[in-house]
Amino acid sequence: MSSFTDELNRRLAALREQNLFRELRRVDSAQGPRIKIGGKTFLNFSSNDYLGLANHPALKEAAIRAVEKFGAGAGASRLICGSLAPFHELEETLAAFKKAEAALTFSTGYAAAVGTITTLVSKDDVIILDKLVHASIVDAAKLSGAKLRIFDHNDLNDLEDKLKWADKFSKAESGKRKAEILVVTESIFSMDGDAAPLREIVPLKNKYGAWLMVDEAHATGIIGENGYGLADELGVSNQIEIQMGTLGKALGASGGYICGSRALIDFLVNRARSFIFSTAPIPAAAVTATAAIQIIQSAEGKMRRENLFSLIAELNSKLKIKNSKLPGAIIPLIIGDETKAVDAANKLREQNIFVPAIRFPTVARSAARLRITLTAAHSEVDISELAAALAQLKIIN
Ligand SMILES: *Cc1c(COP(=O)(O)O)cnc(C)c1O
Repeated sequence: MSSFTDELNRRLAALREQNLFRELRRVDSAQGPRIKIGGKTFLNFSSNDYLGLANHPALKEAAIRAVEKFGAGAGASRLICGSLAPFHELEETLAAFKKAEAALTFSTGYAAAVGTITTLVSKDDVIILDKLVHASIVDAAKLSGAKLRIFDHNDLNDLEDKLKWADKFSKAESGKRKAEILVVTESIFSMDGDAAPLREIVPLKNKYGAWLMVDEAHATGIIGENGYGLADELGVSNQIEIQMGTLGKALGASGGYICGSRALIDFLVNRARSFIFSTAPIPAAAVTATAAIQIIQSAEGKMRRENLFSLIAELNSKLKIKNSKLPGAIIPLIIGDETKAVDAANKLREQNIFVPAIRFPTVARSAARLRITLTAAHSEVDISELAAALAQLKIIN
């Protein structure tokens, strides 16, 4: 026992030495533009609750009513004890929202990525990932056993090189089943906030007969008409085989989803292990997400998006960022050195402002950053306070 603990303490010391040690900070309030930590109130620029829905009265009301009608827990996996109505209502709502034939929800976005990718490709196939895709996709790709190739971030030439290689590989394996090629990218990237060139990626993957999966975790709810997402905005959603996202960010609830053809969804129900071998989420989470999609498509949703984007423009102008290429609500301030990034976050916290320092392994080594996220629940005064603190600490000029 003691040698086990000693070994872990050695590993923890190594993390501390590199300034990569992480700890949980207990929050004693709901998520929102202000959070309470250790009796102090912080201005919060860390959450992905982009529309400020996580603590919205209508969502809370929906969750409470769902608990009263459907109880606290789901009982078992949906294939075992029956599949509660709220999941079906949510999946119908999601499919319509994403203009897809069908949808399937998972307990988290992470589980959606792992379950879906490992179901679609295996060791005789090829998976090609953008260098900056989320850890859930990287883990899924490794677990699938498929040949893994990484293309430089948003680099269409490099993607085509990898597709050419995959095409050759696929043809060389004659005799066996044809190798499938799966390309996975995000629409708005979680730590850099930039967008994938989906309009250009689609014809490329079509040229090589590859499948495309797009993770819209940071776009769903905020980008495009009615918050349908970037793929819809660019008019390519019907050419993406697998549309993925989470219910935990702009939707303010929790869970993950996949949208696509009826065949895709039926196949996932039969094969996706993170769906089959996992207890269904609490039904209230599904009801909450359904209520969120309704708000997102309403006049209120539109107003919230307009408010969010006006705050983003305001911060960009205060940070003197001209013609920002970042279409979403993520504004990374790249610092580089891990120690300096942690230091900057600590100094902001001393001024009661909560901004996370994002470090390896979430981003590459020496690419540490402050990741600022704005929400529709912030105010202009909040933005001014943040900009003033950043200027005072000389994090910006
Ligand atoms: C957050 C996130 C996920 C995981 O979703 P959860 O619902 O939090 O598990 C997947 N992909 C991306 C790009 C994310 O940012």
